[in-house]
Amino acid sequence: MCDIAVVSVHTSPLARPGTRDSGGMNVYIRELSRQLGRRAHTLDIFTRRTDPDSPQVAVIDGRTRVIQIDAGPPEADKRSLQRYLPEFRCGVIRFQEEQGRSYDLVHSHYWLSGWVGQALKARWNVPHVIMFHTLGEAKNRSHLSEREPDDRIAGERLVAQGADRVICASEGERRILIDHYGVSPERAVQVPCGVDTDHFRPMSRAGVRRRLGLPVDEPVLLYVGRIEPLKGIDILIRAAAQTEGRFRLLLVGGDGQDAVRKEELRRLAEELGIAGNVVFQDAVSHNRLPLYYNAADVCVVPSYYESFGLVALEAMACGVPVVASRVGGLLETVQDGRTGYLVPWRCPEPFAERLELLRANEPRRRGRARGLESHALERSPQGPGHRRSPGRRGVPLRRQRRPLDVRGVAGGLRPRHLRR
Ligand code: UDP
Repeated sequence: MCDIAVVSVHTSPLARPGTRDSGGMNVYIRELSRQLGRRAHTLDIFTRRTDPDSPQVAVIDGRTRVIQIDAGPPEADKRSLQRYLPEFRCGVIRFQEEQGRSYDLVHSHYWLSGWVGQALKARWNVPHVIMFHTLGEAKNRSHLSEREPDDRIAGERLVAQGADRVICASEGERRILIDHYGVSPERAVQVPCGVDTDHFRPMSRAGVRRRLGLPVDEPVLLYVGRIEPLKGIDILIRAAAQTEGRFRLLLVGGDGQDAVRKEELRRLAEELGIAGNVVFQDAVSHNRLPLYYNAADVCVVPSYYESFGLVALEAMACGVPVVASRVGGLLETVQDGRTGYLVPWRCPEPFAERLELLRANEPRRRGRARGLESHALERSPQGPGHRRSPGRRGVPLRRQRRPLDVRGVAGGLRPRHLRR
C-alpha cells in the first residue's frame, strides 16, 4: 500500500472531459486513481483551483481526494501557468505540512506538473514518476502551424532526465524520449492506456439510435473529443462532404465556451452544402458515451497529432471501426485493415475514401465487430485475459480471435473525387 501524491496542475480530474483542456489526461488520471484505490493505495490529486468558490478538498472515491491549490488567477490560461508553478509547489507543501501527511511517491502528469513533481521529489526525498501525455517535440514534428516554444522543450528535457521513471503510452513516445530528450532506456517504460470494457461494450445499434433520437437506417459518422484545431475536425467535415448518399455526421464534444470554434465548423459545413447533415452535441459524460459509439457506423479520429487517442480504443471496445490519422499513439492502437484504417495524409480525400470502403462493407463489418472488441479487451485495465462481467451484459464475452477484415472491399462505393 502506497500514499501517492498525484500532480495535475493545469487540469482537474473533476473537469468535464471533452471541453476545453479536459480530455484523455483527465480520464486517465480519474480511472488510474480508481484502479489504484481499489488496490488499497491512497491518493491525493493536487490541481490548480480554477473556481474560487469550490471546496479545497473533494473526496472522489474512498481513498482518493482532489486537493485544489491556489496559484495565479483562477481564469489563467494554460500557456501562462509556468510562472505560477513555484506558488503551486508552496501550496502543496503547505497542505501536506498542515495535514501532517507524508507520501511514498509523486506521480505527475504533463510537463508543467513534472516541474512541480521534481521539486516535491527533492523536498520529500521520494521517487518521482512522470507521464507527459504529450511532448512538445512530438507536436512540433507533426508540422502544426503553431510551434511549441523552446522553453517547453527545455523544461520537458529537465524533468524527463531527472524523474525516476517516465511512463509512455506508446512505443513511439518512448523512442522520442530516449532519442531526443536523452532519457535512459531503462527509465522510460511503456504502459499503453486501457479502456473499461465493462462500460464501453457493444450494444444494439437500433436500440441506442432510438434512445438518442437518431434515424435507424442512416449511416452515422462519429467524432468524439475536444473541439480544437489539433483534432482536425475540419478535415472530417471536408471528407464527409465528399462522400455520396445520405449520412449523419455527429460531432460530440465542447461546450458553450467552444462556441466560436463550433461556429467556424458550422460555417464550413454550410459552405460545403452539408450543414443539414451535421449535428453538434455538447460533451457527453462517460456514462452515456457508449450509446454514441454504438450508434455509429464508424468513429473518425482525424487529428493532426494524437499522443495516444483513447477515443479510438473506446470506439473499438464498442465494436465500431475507426478511421484515424496515421499519427502518434494511433499507429499502435488502430490496426490498419483490421480494426479500421490509418490514413497517412492529413487531407480529406483519403479519409473520404476509407469512409466509403467501410460503408460498402457494412453487413460484413457488423458481423465481425467482436474482433474489434477483443482487440480492445487486450487493453482493458483488468488485463488481456479479462472476460466482461456477466452481470453487465447477461452473457459472458467469448474472446474472438478473428479480426474485422476490411481489406478486399475496394469494389464498394467510391468517393466522389475518385469517380470523376
Ligand atoms: N470525452 C468525453 N466526452 C466527450 C468527449 C470526449 O468523455 O464528449 C472523453 C473521451 O471519452 C476520451 C477523452 O475524453 O476518454 C479524450 O481522450 P483522447 O485521448 O481521445 O483525446 P485527448 O483529449 O487526450 O486529446
